[in-house]
Amino acid sequence: MAASDGTVIIGGGLAAAHVVQTLREHGYPNGITLIGDEPTAPYERPPLSKDYLQGKQAADASIVHDAGWYAEHDVSLVLGEQAASIDRQHHVVRLDSGSEHPYGNLVLATGADSRRLEVPGADLPGVHLLRRVGDAESLKDSFSAGGRLAVVGAGWIGLEVAASARQAGMEVTVVAPGSTPLGSVLGQEIGAHFAALHRANGVELRLGTQVSGIIERDGRAAGLETSAGEVPADVVLIAIGAVPATGLAEAAGLDVANGVLVDSALRTSDPDILAVGDVANAQNTRLGRLRVEHWDNAIRQGTLAAQTILGHDDRYDWLPYFFTDQFDLGMEYVGHAGPDAQTVIRGKLESGEFIAFWLEDGTVAAAMNVNIWDVNDTLRALVGRSIEPARLADAEIPLAAL
Ligand SMILES: Cc1cc2nc3c(=O)[nH]c(=O)nc-3n(C[C@H](O)[C@H](O)[C@H](O)COP(=O)(O)OP(=O)(O)OC[C@H]3O[C@@H](n4cnc5c(N)ncnc54)[C@H](O)[C@@H]3O)c2cc1C
Repeated sequence: MAASDGTVIIGGGLAAAHVVQTLREHGYPNGITLIGDEPTAPYERPPLSKDYLQGKQAADASIVHDAGWYAEHDVSLVLGEQAASIDRQHHVVRLDSGSEHPYGNLVLATGADSRRLEVPGADLPGVHLLRRVGDAESLKDSFSAGGRLAVVGAGWIGLEVAASARQAGMEVTVVAPGSTPLGSVLGQEIGAHFAALHRANGVELRLGTQVSGIIERDGRAAGLETSAGEVPADVVLIAIGAVPATGLAEAAGLDVANGVLVDSALRTSDPDILAVGDVANAQNTRLGRLRVEHWDNAIRQGTLAAQTILGHDDRYDWLPYFFTDQFDLGMEYVGHAGPDAQTVIRGKLESGEFIAFWLEDGTVAAAMNVNIWDVNDTLRALVGRSIEPARLADAEIPLAAL
Protein backbone atom coordinates (compact mmCIF):
# COMPACT_ATOMS: atom_id res chain seq x y z
CA MET A 1 0.00 0.00 0.00
CA ALA A 2 1.35 3.44 -0.97
CA ALA A 3 2.14 5.87 1.84
CA SER A 4 -0.11 8.90 2.13
CA ASP A 5 0.32 12.55 3.11
CA GLY A 6 -3.37 12.78 3.86
CA THR A 7 -5.44 12.72 7.02
CA VAL A 8 -7.70 9.86 8.10
CA ILE A 9 -10.26 10.43 10.85
CA ILE A 10 -11.76 7.44 12.66
CA GLY A 11 -15.18 8.22 14.13
CA GLY A 12 -18.14 9.89 12.51
CA GLY A 13 -19.25 12.26 15.28
CA LEU A 14 -19.19 15.98 15.93
CA ALA A 15 -15.46 16.18 16.65
CA ALA A 16 -14.65 14.37 13.40
CA ALA A 17 -16.86 16.76 11.42
CA HIS A 18 -14.99 19.75 12.84
CA VAL A 19 -11.57 18.30 12.05
CA VAL A 20 -12.65 17.98 8.42
CA GLN A 21 -14.36 21.37 8.25
CA THR A 22 -11.37 23.24 9.73
CA LEU A 23 -8.85 21.48 7.50
CA ARG A 24 -10.77 22.44 4.36
CA GLU A 25 -11.53 26.00 5.57
CA HIS A 26 -7.79 26.54 5.96
CA GLY A 27 -6.92 25.20 2.52
CA TYR A 28 -5.46 21.83 3.57
CA PRO A 29 -4.22 20.47 0.23
CA ASN A 30 -4.11 16.72 0.91
CA GLY A 31 -6.65 13.92 0.94
CA ILE A 32 -9.11 13.52 3.82
CA THR A 33 -10.98 10.32 4.69
CA LEU A 34 -13.60 10.14 7.42
CA ILE A 35 -14.50 6.62 8.63
CA GLY A 36 -17.64 6.27 10.74
CA ASP A 37 -19.50 3.12 11.78
CA GLU A 38 -22.93 4.78 11.90
CA PRO A 39 -24.85 4.88 8.61
CA THR A 40 -25.32 8.67 8.70
CA ALA A 41 -22.92 11.57 8.24
CA PRO A 42 -21.81 13.20 11.55
CA TYR A 43 -24.63 14.72 13.59
CA GLU A 44 -25.14 16.47 16.92
CA ARG A 45 -26.37 14.30 19.81
CA PRO A 46 -27.85 16.86 22.29
CA PRO A 47 -31.31 16.93 20.64
CA LEU A 48 -31.62 13.13 21.00
CA SER A 49 -32.60 13.46 24.68
CA LYS A 50 -34.51 16.73 24.26
CA ASP A 51 -36.11 18.17 21.10
CA TYR A 52 -36.19 14.90 19.18
CA LEU A 53 -37.80 12.94 22.05
CA GLN A 54 -40.27 15.80 22.54
CA GLY A 55 -41.27 15.65 18.88
CA LYS A 56 -39.95 19.17 18.19
CA GLN A 57 -37.34 18.12 15.66
CA ALA A 58 -36.77 15.30 13.19
CA ALA A 59 -34.10 12.66 13.82
CA ASP A 60 -31.98 13.86 10.91
CA ALA A 61 -32.32 17.59 11.65
CA SER A 62 -29.05 17.90 13.52
CA ILE A 63 -26.69 16.62 10.84
CA VAL A 64 -23.55 18.81 10.69
CA HIS A 65 -23.08 18.69 6.90
CA ASP A 66 -24.97 16.60 4.38
CA ALA A 67 -23.19 14.09 2.17
CA GLY A 68 -23.07 16.66 -0.67
CA TRP A 69 -20.89 18.98 1.43
CA TYR A 70 -18.27 16.25 1.89
CA ALA A 71 -18.26 15.53 -1.84
CA GLU A 72 -17.94 19.25 -2.68
CA HIS A 73 -15.01 19.54 -0.28
CA ASP A 74 -13.25 16.49 -1.65
CA VAL A 75 -13.65 14.45 1.53
CA SER A 76 -13.98 10.70 1.20
CA LEU A 77 -16.83 9.65 3.49
CA VAL A 78 -16.73 5.98 4.51
CA LEU A 79 -19.91 5.33 6.50
CA GLY A 80 -21.33 2.21 8.10
CA GLU A 81 -17.88 0.69 8.42
CA GLN A 82 -15.84 0.03 11.52
CA ALA A 83 -12.11 0.65 11.77
CA ALA A 84 -10.67 -2.62 13.11
CA SER A 85 -6.98 -1.85 13.62
CA ILE A 86 -4.21 0.71 13.21
CA ASP A 87 -0.88 -0.38 11.77
CA ARG A 88 1.35 2.39 13.11
CA GLN A 89 4.48 1.05 11.47
CA HIS A 90 3.02 1.24 7.96
CA HIS A 91 0.64 4.14 8.69
CA VAL A 92 -2.45 2.23 7.63
CA VAL A 93 -5.97 1.87 9.10
CA ARG A 94 -7.70 -1.45 8.38
CA LEU A 95 -11.47 -1.74 8.39
CA ASP A 96 -13.63 -4.72 9.32
CA SER A 97 -14.47 -4.99 5.62
CA GLY A 98 -10.78 -5.58 4.86
CA SER A 99 -10.18 -2.27 3.07
CA GLU A 100 -7.09 -0.28 3.98
CA HIS A 101 -6.60 3.48 4.33
CA PRO A 102 -3.06 4.88 4.46
CA TYR A 103 -2.51 8.03 6.50
CA GLY A 104 0.03 10.75 7.10
CA ASN A 105 -1.91 12.01 10.12
CA LEU A 106 -4.56 9.97 11.89
CA VAL A 107 -7.21 11.46 14.18
CA LEU A 108 -9.06 9.26 16.69
CA ALA A 109 -12.54 10.70 17.20
CA THR A 110 -14.21 7.51 18.38
CA GLY A 111 -16.23 9.18 21.16
CA ALA A 112 -17.74 7.17 23.97
CA ASP A 113 -20.24 4.35 24.45
CA SER A 114 -23.06 4.18 26.98
CA ARG A 115 -21.94 2.50 30.18
CA ARG A 116 -23.80 -0.80 30.63
CA LEU A 117 -25.48 -1.88 33.83
CA GLU A 118 -24.17 -5.26 34.91
CA VAL A 119 -27.32 -6.73 36.47
CA PRO A 120 -29.56 -9.68 35.52
CA GLY A 121 -32.02 -8.73 32.79
CA ALA A 122 -30.07 -5.74 31.46
CA ASP A 123 -30.31 -7.13 27.89
CA LEU A 124 -34.08 -7.72 27.93
CA PRO A 125 -36.29 -6.11 25.29
CA GLY A 126 -37.63 -2.87 26.71
CA VAL A 127 -34.28 -1.87 28.25
CA HIS A 128 -32.79 1.11 26.40
CA LEU A 129 -29.50 2.97 26.22
CA LEU A 130 -29.20 6.40 24.59
CA ARG A 131 -26.19 7.34 22.51
CA ARG A 132 -27.07 7.06 18.84
CA VAL A 133 -29.96 8.24 16.71
CA GLY A 134 -31.22 4.65 16.42
CA ASP A 135 -31.33 4.42 20.24
CA ALA A 136 -33.38 7.62 20.37
CA GLU A 137 -35.77 6.35 17.71
CA SER A 138 -36.49 3.13 19.57
CA LEU A 139 -36.83 4.96 22.91
CA LYS A 140 -39.26 7.46 21.38
CA ASP A 141 -41.27 4.63 19.81
CA SER A 142 -41.69 3.13 23.28
CA PHE A 143 -43.17 6.33 24.73
CA SER A 144 -46.92 6.39 25.23
CA ALA A 145 -49.17 8.65 27.28
CA GLY A 146 -49.76 6.96 30.61
CA GLY A 147 -46.91 4.49 30.07
CA ARG A 148 -44.34 4.07 32.84
CA LEU A 149 -40.64 4.84 32.34
CA ALA A 150 -37.97 3.89 34.88
CA VAL A 151 -34.67 5.72 34.43
CA VAL A 152 -31.53 4.34 36.06
CA GLY A 153 -29.17 7.25 36.70
CA ALA A 154 -29.73 10.90 37.62
CA GLY A 155 -27.06 12.44 35.41
CA TRP A 156 -27.62 14.79 32.48
CA ILE A 157 -29.06 12.28 30.02
CA GLY A 158 -31.22 10.51 32.62
CA LEU A 159 -32.76 13.79 33.78
CA GLU A 160 -33.23 15.16 30.27
CA VAL A 161 -35.03 12.01 29.19
CA ALA A 162 -37.11 12.07 32.38
CA ALA A 163 -38.23 15.61 31.48
CA SER A 164 -38.95 14.69 27.84
CA ALA A 165 -40.93 11.60 28.89
CA ARG A 166 -43.04 13.61 31.36
CA GLN A 167 -43.78 16.04 28.55
CA ALA A 168 -44.94 13.04 26.48
CA GLY A 169 -47.34 12.09 29.27
CA MET A 170 -45.32 9.22 30.77
CA GLU A 171 -45.18 8.36 34.46
CA VAL A 172 -41.47 8.62 35.29
CA THR A 173 -39.36 7.25 38.15
CA VAL A 174 -35.64 8.04 38.36
CA VAL A 175 -33.52 5.70 40.49
CA ALA A 176 -29.97 6.65 41.47
CA PRO A 177 -27.46 5.76 44.20
CA GLY A 178 -26.44 9.32 45.14
CA SER A 179 -28.32 11.54 47.57
CA THR A 180 -28.70 14.38 45.01
CA PRO A 181 -29.03 14.36 41.24
CA LEU A 182 -25.96 15.85 39.55
CA GLY A 183 -24.39 16.28 43.00
CA SER A 184 -20.96 15.17 41.81
CA VAL A 185 -20.90 18.01 39.26
CA LEU A 186 -22.99 20.79 40.76
CA GLY A 187 -22.74 20.06 44.50
CA GLN A 188 -25.60 19.51 46.96
CA GLU A 189 -27.38 22.88 46.83
CA ILE A 190 -27.78 23.13 43.06
CA GLY A 191 -28.34 19.38 42.77
CA ALA A 192 -31.25 19.81 45.19
CA HIS A 193 -32.63 22.53 42.90
CA PHE A 194 -32.73 20.04 40.02
CA ALA A 195 -34.39 17.47 42.30
CA ALA A 196 -37.07 20.01 43.25
CA LEU A 197 -37.62 20.92 39.58
CA HIS A 198 -38.23 17.28 38.66
CA ARG A 199 -40.48 16.58 41.63
CA ALA A 200 -42.51 19.71 40.89
CA ASN A 201 -43.06 18.32 37.39
CA GLY A 202 -44.24 14.95 38.64
CA VAL A 203 -41.06 12.88 38.36
CA GLU A 204 -40.62 10.43 41.21
CA LEU A 205 -37.01 10.44 42.40
CA ARG A 206 -35.77 7.42 44.34
CA LEU A 207 -32.35 8.55 45.52
CA GLY A 208 -29.85 6.63 47.63
CA THR A 209 -31.16 3.53 45.86
CA GLN A 210 -29.24 0.72 44.11
CA VAL A 211 -30.60 -1.28 41.18
CA SER A 212 -29.97 -5.02 41.51
CA GLY A 213 -31.87 -6.36 38.50
CA ILE A 214 -34.46 -5.86 35.78
CA ILE A 215 -37.86 -7.47 36.43
CA GLU A 216 -38.90 -9.79 33.57
CA ARG A 217 -42.48 -10.48 32.46
CA ASP A 218 -43.39 -12.32 29.23
CA GLY A 219 -39.79 -12.01 28.04
CA ARG A 220 -39.71 -8.23 28.42
CA ALA A 221 -38.51 -5.71 31.00
CA ALA A 222 -41.28 -4.94 33.47
CA GLY A 223 -39.41 -2.72 35.93
CA LEU A 224 -36.49 -2.56 38.32
CA GLU A 225 -35.49 -4.56 41.38
CA THR A 226 -33.94 -2.04 43.76
CA SER A 227 -32.61 -1.81 47.30
CA ALA A 228 -35.84 0.05 48.12
CA GLY A 229 -38.22 -2.45 46.51
CA GLU A 230 -39.64 -2.92 43.03
CA VAL A 231 -40.23 -0.11 40.53
CA PRO A 232 -42.76 -1.35 37.95
CA ALA A 233 -42.23 0.07 34.45
CA ASP A 234 -43.11 -0.54 30.80
CA VAL A 235 -39.84 0.98 29.57
CA VAL A 236 -36.40 1.13 31.22
CA LEU A 237 -33.60 3.55 30.32
CA ILE A 238 -30.08 2.90 31.61
CA ALA A 239 -28.30 6.26 31.79
CA ILE A 240 -25.30 5.70 34.02
CA GLY A 241 -22.65 7.52 32.06
CA ALA A 242 -20.34 6.82 29.16
CA VAL A 243 -17.09 4.97 28.65
CA PRO A 244 -14.46 6.36 26.23
CA ALA A 245 -14.05 4.18 23.11
CA THR A 246 -10.34 3.46 23.51
CA GLY A 247 -10.16 -0.11 22.16
CA LEU A 248 -8.40 0.75 18.89
CA ALA A 249 -5.91 3.03 20.62
CA GLU A 250 -5.06 0.43 23.26
CA ALA A 251 -4.61 -2.31 20.67
CA ALA A 252 -2.29 0.03 18.74
CA GLY A 253 -0.14 0.51 21.85
CA LEU A 254 -0.97 4.18 22.43
CA ASP A 255 -0.95 5.56 25.98
CA VAL A 256 -4.46 5.25 27.43
CA ALA A 257 -5.78 6.13 30.90
CA ASN A 258 -9.45 7.16 31.19
CA GLY A 259 -9.32 8.04 27.49
CA VAL A 260 -6.50 8.40 24.98
CA LEU A 261 -3.78 10.54 26.56
CA VAL A 262 -2.94 13.58 24.45
CA ASP A 263 -0.85 16.70 25.01
CA SER A 264 -2.12 20.28 24.77
CA ALA A 265 -1.86 20.14 20.95
CA LEU A 266 -3.94 16.90 21.06
CA ARG A 267 -1.11 14.61 19.93
CA THR A 268 -1.07 11.09 21.38
CA SER A 269 2.08 9.22 22.40
CA ASP A 270 2.55 8.72 18.62
CA PRO A 271 3.07 12.20 17.11
CA ASP A 272 1.34 11.20 13.84
CA ILE A 273 -1.86 10.29 15.71
CA LEU A 274 -4.15 12.79 17.45
CA ALA A 275 -7.27 12.27 19.55
CA VAL A 276 -10.25 14.60 20.04
CA GLY A 277 -13.62 14.86 21.74
CA ASP A 278 -15.11 12.45 24.28
CA VAL A 279 -12.32 9.88 23.79
CA ALA A 280 -9.44 12.30 24.50
CA ASN A 281 -7.94 12.78 27.95
CA ALA A 282 -6.16 16.02 27.15
CA GLN A 283 -3.67 18.30 28.85
CA ASN A 284 -5.44 21.63 29.38
CA THR A 285 -2.88 24.42 29.83
CA ARG A 286 -5.00 26.04 32.59
CA LEU A 287 -6.63 23.10 34.34
CA GLY A 288 -4.38 20.08 33.86
CA ARG A 289 -5.65 16.76 32.48
CA LEU A 290 -9.31 16.67 31.50
CA ARG A 291 -11.59 14.31 29.61
CA VAL A 292 -14.71 16.27 28.74
CA GLU A 293 -17.93 14.75 27.35
CA HIS A 294 -19.58 17.87 25.97
CA TRP A 295 -20.73 19.31 22.64
CA ASP A 296 -18.57 22.46 22.80
CA ASN A 297 -15.45 20.42 23.55
CA ALA A 298 -16.03 18.16 20.54
CA ILE A 299 -16.26 21.21 18.26
CA ARG A 300 -13.27 23.03 19.73
CA GLN A 301 -10.99 20.01 19.96
CA GLY A 302 -11.91 19.01 16.40
CA THR A 303 -10.87 22.49 15.31
CA LEU A 304 -7.67 22.40 17.37
CA ALA A 305 -6.59 19.00 16.01
CA ALA A 306 -6.94 20.37 12.48
CA GLN A 307 -4.84 23.40 13.44
CA THR A 308 -2.14 21.11 14.84
CA ILE A 309 -2.10 19.16 11.57
CA LEU A 310 -1.87 22.46 9.67
CA GLY A 311 1.23 23.37 11.69
CA HIS A 312 -0.36 26.11 13.83
CA ASP A 313 0.83 26.47 17.41
CA ASP A 314 -2.58 26.58 19.11
CA ARG A 315 -3.18 24.86 22.45
CA TYR A 316 -6.01 23.36 24.52
CA ASP A 317 -6.38 26.36 26.81
CA TRP A 318 -10.13 27.02 27.10
CA LEU A 319 -12.61 26.39 29.90
CA PRO A 320 -15.17 23.59 29.60
CA TYR A 321 -18.68 24.74 28.67
CA PHE A 322 -21.96 22.84 28.56
CA PHE A 323 -25.70 23.35 28.61
CA THR A 324 -28.88 21.50 29.43
CA ASP A 325 -32.63 22.00 29.00
CA GLN A 326 -35.05 20.29 31.40
CA PHE A 327 -38.71 21.37 31.69
CA ASP A 328 -38.61 25.19 31.87
CA LEU A 329 -34.98 25.28 33.04
CA GLY A 330 -32.30 26.16 30.50
CA MET A 331 -28.76 26.70 31.67
CA GLU A 332 -25.16 27.16 30.58
CA TYR A 333 -22.14 26.24 32.74
CA VAL A 334 -18.58 27.39 32.21
CA GLY A 335 -15.46 26.31 34.12
CA HIS A 336 -14.57 23.25 36.15
CA ALA A 337 -15.35 22.88 39.85
CA GLY A 338 -15.32 19.95 42.24
CA PRO A 339 -18.45 18.92 44.18
CA ASP A 340 -17.08 20.41 47.41
CA ALA A 341 -16.55 23.90 46.02
CA GLN A 342 -18.30 26.75 47.87
CA THR A 343 -21.55 27.67 46.09
CA VAL A 344 -22.64 31.31 45.87
CA ILE A 345 -26.05 32.21 44.43
CA ARG A 346 -26.83 35.55 42.77
CA GLY A 347 -30.61 35.97 42.64
CA LYS A 348 -33.25 33.66 44.10
CA LEU A 349 -33.31 29.92 43.35
CA GLU A 350 -37.12 29.94 43.77
CA SER A 351 -37.50 32.52 40.98
CA GLY A 352 -36.01 30.03 38.50
CA GLU A 353 -33.66 32.77 37.20
CA PHE A 354 -30.28 32.98 38.90
CA ILE A 355 -26.53 32.69 38.53
CA ALA A 356 -24.47 30.22 40.56
CA PHE A 357 -20.75 30.52 41.21
CA TRP A 358 -18.44 27.84 42.56
CA LEU A 359 -15.38 29.02 44.50
CA GLU A 360 -12.28 26.99 45.30
CA ASP A 361 -9.75 28.62 47.65
CA GLY A 362 -11.49 31.96 47.13
CA THR A 363 -11.16 31.77 43.34
CA VAL A 364 -14.10 31.43 40.94
CA ALA A 365 -13.76 27.91 39.48
CA ALA A 366 -17.06 27.78 37.57
CA ALA A 367 -20.27 29.69 36.96
CA MET A 368 -23.72 28.83 35.64
CA ASN A 369 -26.51 31.03 34.28
CA VAL A 370 -30.02 29.61 34.69
CA ASN A 371 -32.78 31.11 32.52
CA ILE A 372 -30.69 34.31 32.20
CA TRP A 373 -29.16 34.68 28.75
CA ASP A 374 -26.29 36.46 26.99
CA VAL A 375 -24.12 36.52 30.12
CA ASN A 376 -22.04 33.39 29.71
CA ASP A 377 -19.08 35.21 28.13
CA THR A 378 -19.06 37.64 31.06
CA LEU A 379 -19.11 34.72 33.49
CA ARG A 380 -16.30 33.03 31.58
CA ALA A 381 -14.14 36.12 32.15
CA LEU A 382 -14.74 35.86 35.92
CA VAL A 383 -13.46 32.27 36.17
CA GLY A 384 -9.97 32.23 37.66
CA ARG A 385 -10.46 35.52 39.53
CA SER A 386 -10.59 35.98 43.31
CA ILE A 387 -13.83 37.78 44.12
CA GLU A 388 -15.53 38.21 47.51
CA PRO A 389 -18.58 35.90 47.79
CA ALA A 390 -20.67 38.84 49.02
CA ARG A 391 -19.90 40.80 45.84
CA LEU A 392 -20.67 37.81 43.61
CA ALA A 393 -24.04 37.42 45.36
CA ASP A 394 -24.94 41.13 45.18
CA ALA A 395 -27.23 41.53 42.16
CA GLU A 396 -26.94 45.34 42.54
CA ILE A 397 -23.35 45.12 41.28
CA PRO A 398 -23.40 44.58 37.51
CA LEU A 399 -21.62 41.38 36.47
CA ALA A 400 -19.28 43.38 34.27
CA ALA A 401 -18.22 45.46 37.28
CA LEU A 402 -17.21 42.52 39.46
C1 LIG B 1 -28.25 11.85 24.26
C2 LIG B 1 -27.13 12.82 24.43
C3 LIG B 1 -27.38 14.13 24.80
C4 LIG B 1 -26.35 15.03 24.96
N1 LIG B 1 -26.63 16.31 25.34
C5 LIG B 1 -25.64 17.20 25.52
C6 LIG B 1 -25.91 18.54 25.95
O1 LIG B 1 -27.07 18.92 26.18
N2 LIG B 1 -24.88 19.40 26.12
C7 LIG B 1 -23.58 19.05 25.87
O2 LIG B 1 -22.67 19.86 26.03
N3 LIG B 1 -23.28 17.76 25.46
C8 LIG B 1 -24.27 16.84 25.29
N4 LIG B 1 -23.99 15.56 24.90
C9 LIG B 1 -22.57 15.16 24.70
C10 LIG B 1 -22.09 15.39 23.27
O3 LIG B 1 -23.04 14.95 22.36
C11 LIG B 1 -20.77 14.65 23.09
O4 LIG B 1 -19.82 15.26 23.93
C12 LIG B 1 -20.29 14.66 21.64
O5 LIG B 1 -21.18 13.93 20.84
C13 LIG B 1 -18.90 14.06 21.51
O6 LIG B 1 -18.54 14.04 20.17
P1 LIG B 1 -17.42 13.04 19.63
O7 LIG B 1 -17.31 13.33 18.16
O8 LIG B 1 -16.21 13.11 20.47
O9 LIG B 1 -17.98 11.57 19.86
P2 LIG B 1 -19.32 10.86 19.36
O10 LIG B 1 -20.39 11.87 19.16
O11 LIG B 1 -19.56 9.75 20.30
O12 LIG B 1 -18.93 10.26 17.94
C14 LIG B 1 -18.03 9.17 17.82
C15 LIG B 1 -18.40 8.39 16.58
O13 LIG B 1 -17.35 7.48 16.27
C16 LIG B 1 -17.91 6.22 15.93
N5 LIG B 1 -16.89 5.17 16.13
C17 LIG B 1 -16.40 4.71 17.31
N6 LIG B 1 -15.49 3.73 17.08
C18 LIG B 1 -15.40 3.59 15.74
C19 LIG B 1 -14.63 2.73 14.88
N7 LIG B 1 -13.74 1.84 15.37
N8 LIG B 1 -14.79 2.85 13.54
C20 LIG B 1 -15.66 3.75 13.03
N9 LIG B 1 -16.42 4.58 13.79
C21 LIG B 1 -16.29 4.50 15.13
C22 LIG B 1 -19.10 6.13 16.88
O14 LIG B 1 -20.04 5.17 16.46
C23 LIG B 1 -19.64 7.55 16.76
O15 LIG B 1 -20.46 7.69 15.63
C24 LIG B 1 -25.00 14.62 24.74
C25 LIG B 1 -24.74 13.29 24.38
C26 LIG B 1 -25.77 12.39 24.23
C27 LIG B 1 -25.49 10.97 23.85
